[in-house]
Amino acid sequence: MAVPVSQAWTVASYVLKQKFMGRKKYPLVMMLEPLFRCNLACAGCGKIQYPAHILKAELTPEECFRAAEECNTPMVAIPGGEPLLHPQMPEIVAGLVARKKYVYMCTNALLLKDKLHLFTPSKYLSFSVHVDGEREHHDFGVCREGGYDIAMEGVHAAVKAGFRVTTNTTLFDGADPNSVRRHFDQMMDAGVESMMVSPGYTYDKAPDQKHFLGRARSRKLFRSILSNRKKTWRFNASPMFMEFLMGKKELTCTPWGMPTFSIFGWQKPCYLLQDGYADSFKQLMEEVEWANYGTESGNPRCANCMVHSGYEASGVNYTFGSFKGLMQTAKAIFFDSYKDDHATKLLNEWKPTHNPLVQIGTPVVSAESATVNHESNLVAGD
Ligand code: SF4
Repeated sequence: MAVPVSQAWTVASYVLKQKFMGRKKYPLVMMLEPLFRCNLACAGCGKIQYPAHILKAELTPEECFRAAEECNTPMVAIPGGEPLLHPQMPEIVAGLVARKKYVYMCTNALLLKDKLHLFTPSKYLSFSVHVDGEREHHDFGVCREGGYDIAMEGVHAAVKAGFRVTTNTTLFDGADPNSVRRHFDQMMDAGVESMMVSPGYTYDKAPDQKHFLGRARSRKLFRSILSNRKKTWRFNASPMFMEFLMGKKELTCTPWGMPTFSIFGWQKPCYLLQDGYADSFKQLMEEVEWANYGTESGNPRCANCMVHSGYEASGVNYTFGSFKGLMQTAKAIFFDSYKDDHATKLLNEWKPTHNPLVQIGTPVVSAESATVNHESNLVAGD
């Protein structure tokens, strides 16, 4: 199983309950951003180009718990910034676990090995490690030579200590599909529970604007990667979302599916766009003009978006929306290896098409030096 049975059951019963209650708009995963500080400077990241006083700010554990209770999703993802730079992260995680939230703590894992002893293994806690492919690709994506080896040390240590470990991989234009498939093998060999893969979003603040994928190229890339799937691969994403990435299914965005809470409040409308903030989750749901967002809205900022945070909830909603959705999902999970000769041809004919990603700054590792780094106004990413 890609997730423990208890988690699958909790999520399925939560979604079915929303449907029985007739709720058309319900959140699936809360995105909790307790800080924007980071100890990396990724070229494709647009989350953390803030002035120093913002980068120093943090949510308190109490603010995190209040937001989680307000939103009341069964799952909480903690992206950032780098959550392990927050001095109270162990307390935040423990408090969410005590509330029976399935927590995905997203981390670049540079500090994971050193901070592992501050956490307790639990079926409710998974470290979601940012690994953007094989060593060379990851180091390039995160603009840090040696970053892959440190991250993998963290992965191995966490697996050995009995933690649930997943990976998240963001792909940009020019990604090598053969290498991504080898990366999947390597993550499974490392004892990772399951993997999530998504195209990057075209952040207008990201230093590298040239290498984000358009929709047609995204579908071609994901078709080549995710077809002819190996039985050993396990994915931490809705099968319907993955079919959407491969161009096998049309889904519309669910911008309220992964509501984001940060030091600014509830972000309107989604994890990726920042059209203001609401003081409460209720206000967020009531105040946003949802029709203005999603590909079908004609909003140019949504035109190329196929990102997990917008479409995972759409995939889950499709699964539980009809008997057909349930059957298609069951087939995808248990029987479908997505055999596709054209995808094999794409893999065999793949050639590098672009220059390297933009490289920025020289990142540092420790929490203290990360603060200094940001005070010097370097950009950073997760
Ligand atoms: S399409 Fe993407 S950017 Fe637009 S609302 Fe949905 S998730 Fe946000």
